[in-house]
Amino acid sequence: MSRRSDAPGETSDVVIVGGGASGLSLAYRLTATGSPTVTLVAAPDGSLLPPERTWCYWERGTGDFDEAVAASWSRLRVHGADGRAVTVDPSPLRYRMLRSADFERLVHSRLARTPGAHVLRATADTVRDTADGAEVRCTTPDGRTLTLRARQVFDSRPLPSLPPARTQLMQHFRGWFVRTDTDRFDPAIADLMDFRVPQPSHGLAFGYVLPLAPDRALVEYTEFSRTPLTTAEYEKALTHYSRDILGLGAVTVESAEQGVIPMTDARFARRTGPAVFRIGTAGGATRPATGYTFAAVQRQSRAVAAGLRNGRVTVPAPHGRRALAMDAVLLRALDTGRIDGPGFFTGLFRRVPAERLLRFLDGDTSPREEWGIGLRTPIGPMLRTVVELPFLPRRPQPATRTGESPR
Ligand SMILES: Cc1cc2nc3c(=O)[nH]c(=O)nc-3n(C[C@H](O)[C@H](O)[C@H](O)COP(=O)(O)OP(=O)(O)OC[C@H]3O[C@@H](n4cnc5c(N)ncnc54)[C@H](O)[C@@H]3O)c2cc1C
Repeated sequence: MSRRSDAPGETSDVVIVGGGASGLSLAYRLTATGSPTVTLVAAPDGSLLPPERTWCYWERGTGDFDEAVAASWSRLRVHGADGRAVTVDPSPLRYRMLRSADFERLVHSRLARTPGAHVLRATADTVRDTADGAEVRCTTPDGRTLTLRARQVFDSRPLPSLPPARTQLMQHFRGWFVRTDTDRFDPAIADLMDFRVPQPSHGLAFGYVLPLAPDRALVEYTEFSRTPLTTAEYEKALTHYSRDILGLGAVTVESAEQGVIPMTDARFARRTGPAVFRIGTAGGATRPATGYTFAAVQRQSRAVAAGLRNGRVTVPAPHGRRALAMDAVLLRALDTGRIDGPGFFTGLFRRVPAERLLRFLDGDTSPREEWGIGLRTPIGPMLRTVVELPFLPRRPQPATRTGESPR
């Protein structure tokens, strides 16, 4: 039975803390199934609110968020360190880009039209279980304290530090939204990984180009390594990539995005009490070997909404055990330098059909298909890592600010 609420600050079936990718996605799915009353606590302007960012993912056919999708691509390209490119067609999957502000508008307008759904601009101070559910204490921008009560709370606030891990790398990057003087891009092809950039002494680096028009694109420089760079170092790498490798000529940088995404084999708790659940990156939704999170968030949000509609509270693991085990091996093999990162990823795109590879990254392949993919990786170093991993302790990791994206 629903507990109705006409104003935030009272009681609803569900409270979602955090209005980022996972909070918005869960709110969207809950309003789609129409059952529970829901309050989304979104941080007000200030240090807790990340700047606008882009979320890319692949999906077949027409998607739920198509009206907010900024661009999409039917072909993907990877450039090896040797300069040779492989272009693949992952159909029926299509690569899509959402701008966070557009997604937020879409979800907020849907919440505004849904009876019993509210967005509350407030800072969540504490989240805790109570005798009949859970409560969230918040502070509104004008300094009022509110206590929200709910049957369940789904909390997406970033963790203060990541859980202990055997391997912890970071996917860290900076990207420019550029405009060129002449047409330089093919809007049909997204460059997923371009390994022609100079490689760091530890980890790997690649360029990433998402064309938005013949003369506009998001051009990024990304590393998988232990430590983020300074903004000046990213700028230097981006200048080299866009000028000397892409040959873009004069570019106008219209805006920039920067971020750090954890790549870790840590175990994330999905439930912190009988009625309090963690979602999003804080709940382990980031795929360790790639940093992709958005698609897993969609799968999990759909499952949570379907469960609640049927009177069950289920928060399924965002990634399966096999996927996590394989990612742990890859992270360790990359971190130890046992495999050549650019060669590894380029080889996969050259040897595995693109649709299967993307399904693999979504955890949607059979053991037989995964075995086939495994055979296309450097078997010796991977096996050595498989043997070693069970004996390695999970150690506390140094705190690293993930997710920030200064302009
Ligand atoms: C720049 C960038 C680009 C990315 N691009 C992609 C991509 O293309 N594809 C992909 O799959 N993944 C991508 N990721 C990884 C991942 O999808 C994103 O980090 C995603 O935003 C994670 O969703 P989330 O809900 O866990 O966290 P967030 O989206 O960061 O949401 C957490 C929310 O909690 C709020 N919050 C924090 N503290 C409080 C508080 N006390 N009270 C109230 N609210 C609070 C914040 O304001 C924030 O809105 C990207 C990450 C970054 C940083």
